[in-house]
Amino acid sequence: MAVKDVMDALRDIHIDNSKLSDLVKDIKLIGRVLEIVYRLPKKGMEEDIADRTRRALESLPDIEDVRVRFVEDVPSQPVMGQPMFTRRRVPGVKHLIAVGSGKGGVGKSTVSANLALSLSKLGYSVGLLDADMYGPSIPTLMGVKGERVHVDENNKIVPIEKYGIKLLSIGFLLPSEDTPVIWRGPMLMKALTQFLFDVNWGDLDYLVLDLPPGTGDVQLTLAQNVHIGGAVVVTTPQDVALADVKKAVAMFKEVQIPVLGVIENMAYFICPDSGKKYYIFGKGKVVEFASAYGLKILGSIPIDPELAQASDEGVPITESAPDSEVAKAFMGVAKVIVDITQRR
Ligand code: ADP
Repeated sequence: MAVKDVMDALRDIHIDNSKLSDLVKDIKLIGRVLEIVYRLPKKGMEEDIADRTRRALESLPDIEDVRVRFVEDVPSQPVMGQPMFTRRRVPGVKHLIAVGSGKGGVGKSTVSANLALSLSKLGYSVGLLDADMYGPSIPTLMGVKGERVHVDENNKIVPIEKYGIKLLSIGFLLPSEDTPVIWRGPMLMKALTQFLFDVNWGDLDYLVLDLPPGTGDVQLTLAQNVHIGGAVVVTTPQDVALADVKKAVAMFKEVQIPVLGVIENMAYFICPDSGKKYYIFGKGKVVEFASAYGLKILGSIPIDPELAQASDEGVPITESAPDSEVAKAFMGVAKVIVDITQRR
């Protein structure tokens, strides 16, 4: 019996608008006794939840007894030892979508830029915020390296516009691209919140947030201060990337940001001569990972050397070759995200 079997069985049960699996805080198997700890969405629901849990799990092999415990549900309590926080909405922004990854180099910034462009091509007003404070790459990817932002008469930062998208990056504020950013703690927090709230974004349907890789201060600061509509997680099908992406998913869940799904980048290579697909990093690994965690795969992006070249030249492939397979794959992801976010 694996944790996945328990979660699968609980996923189909809905209580008070939540899947039972989403309420699970901990699962333990002590001998043949399975103990499940839930956060309790509402007082008085204990018995119903316990009954339905037992019925769902009694058929699992090797289980003699199912014990159910509850901890109080306090969503706005301090997270990870931080002070109390309130999450503010970014004025004028309908959907704030964070793009994260477990580790660097999986194509998170490339995906953020092409996703933003695809959403814009679908007719939405879009912004792209490079929250990768330590390694901003959006200025290069979008061909606006070296540009500087200014403030308007209301003291708001005016984003740079390129390909119809409003862009902001720490790269637009640093004296040179070699300047290291060494902010930590309160200074970083101030800079980040300024990047969201002291900006003249205008009215945006989507603001795509390119997070730094991993699960550090930036993610936590944002989660505590900003209302984020949903997160998407980018991974490649390599085992090393998948090992870390689990941590990223766990972090979003911990800070209660809904994970909209996973984007599989560098999923396969299409041979230009034969048109045949080659699964260079292995096939099916991301599907397996996503199904174990109950996550949706939002799309699979092929490896395309032209994509890397286009990015280096500052013209994202969605712009330079909109009919390419890879651009179509990004468009597919954008449509799925629109579908999910518009239904909410
Ligand atoms: P991250 O933001 O995760 O660190 P980047 O977006 O900077 O990753 O991408 C890392 C490198 O991989 C870049 O050189 C980029 O052009 C390249 N790359 C990303 N996705 C693809 C892809 N699907 N096909 C080919 N090259 C890619």
